[in-house]
Amino acid sequence: MSIFDNTQIAFADKTDSQLKKAYWMFKAIEQPLVTNMGISALNFSVQANLPFVKGIVKNTLFEQFCGGETREESMKVVKQMFKRHVGSIFDYAIEGKAEEKSFDHTCEEIKQNIKFAEGNPAIPFVVFKPTGFGKIDIYEAVGKKTALSTAQQEEWARVVKRYEEVCQMAFDRNVILMIDAEDSWMQDATDDLVNEMMEKFNKEKAIVWNTIQMYRTGRMEYLAEDLQRAKEKNYFLGYKFVRGAYMEKERERAAAMNYPDPIQPNKEASDNNYNAAVDFVLANLDRVSAFFGTHNEESTLLVMNHMKAKGLANDHPQIYFGQLYGMSDNITYVLGAENYNVCKYLPYGPVRDVVPYLTRRAQENTSVAGQTGRELGLISKELQRRKVQKK
Ligand SMILES: Cc1cc2nc3c(=O)[nH]c(=O)nc-3n(C[C@H](O)[C@H](O)[C@H](O)COP(=O)(O)OP(=O)(O)OC[C@H]3O[C@@H](n4cnc5c(N)ncnc54)[C@H](O)[C@@H]3O)c2cc1C
Repeated sequence: MSIFDNTQIAFADKTDSQLKKAYWMFKAIEQPLVTNMGISALNFSVQANLPFVKGIVKNTLFEQFCGGETREESMKVVKQMFKRHVGSIFDYAIEGKAEEKSFDHTCEEIKQNIKFAEGNPAIPFVVFKPTGFGKIDIYEAVGKKTALSTAQQEEWARVVKRYEEVCQMAFDRNVILMIDAEDSWMQDATDDLVNEMMEKFNKEKAIVWNTIQMYRTGRMEYLAEDLQRAKEKNYFLGYKFVRGAYMEKERERAAAMNYPDPIQPNKEASDNNYNAAVDFVLANLDRVSAFFGTHNEESTLLVMNHMKAKGLANDHPQIYFGQLYGMSDNITYVLGAENYNVCKYLPYGPVRDVVPYLTRRAQENTSVAGQTGRELGLISKELQRRKVQKK
């Protein structure tokens, strides 16, 4: 039996009726046909602004995967999780329009999140997505290092200014700021910009953290270069390690545009690459801090075993684990109970605005082999355990 099979710990905060609701929801999204029809109906209803749909969504998908419609409303979940030694990372889940006004608005929202997190151990990180601060095209153009037009130069300067402002604020308030990773074709520009910020703000400790997608080829080489540069220029590195969320899109684009597939050839290769990143972190703790964002039990166990072998405390300040709210509670809550540093990404925003996020979670749970089955298995095990206990 694995340490992660303890459903009593995993669902300690869930009532029977919450668990039953979650069971039926995962059961529904397990069926691709139901999910696809549901998503079409949802998108139509949201566009048509049908009020009763909001109620249904809020009581089902939203309740399962989001903290609340605002930061303040989400605080109930934040406090409840913190009692179990589980931190929260507010994830501004609204996918705004790709326009300057929307980027400024997101930047402002992230600043508010930094203020909110200051001095609050229940919220150990603030996070944002690169596309929240600028268009994909401008990242891509900058990444290619080709000459930019005057308009493009101005556009990029605004992106850089947004990064500078939030990083400066995070530094001033001693809040760790993590930048998500997205499409590979915009990542070179993101990496360079985040490195600039790390060099500027991570002189004493890792305040600005980048995200490394280990499903990509060449990422171990990239890490070695980063480390070399950080040693030479004397700053600290912080990374979130994930496998990566955009595999199908990456492969399709590479095939359509006839360039080498940037993704590892198979799942095993991605797993091995992720494991190599774990080794990299544990071998370089004098300079590197890490957040392992994964729902994979083996990867999580690997980190735990490495920590033990090195004699590190479970709550070593440079090592964090993280899962998404509403998924893999068996990992999160067991880690919390064992005093590891563990967090949930906690999406928030008005119901109708987070629908794209919710539909992605539903689709992912339909397509990610095993994840929904795992969630269903754990929930039914816990319901059964409670039934026996009550007898
Ligand atoms: C807290 C947190 C933050 C996250 N932040 C980001 C982020 O900033 N950017 C981002 O891209 N993703 C992010 N993710 C999502 C993450 O990248 C994964 O998609 C997701 O967590 C599933 O991977 P896993 O390690 O949990 O588990 P697993 O179920 O073991 O792995 C599934 C993953 O393996 C890889 N994979 C599957 N099949 C193949 C194959 N045939 N060939 C090669 N690789 C394959 C894919 O990456 C797939 O998502 C985040 C996840 C968490 C929990």
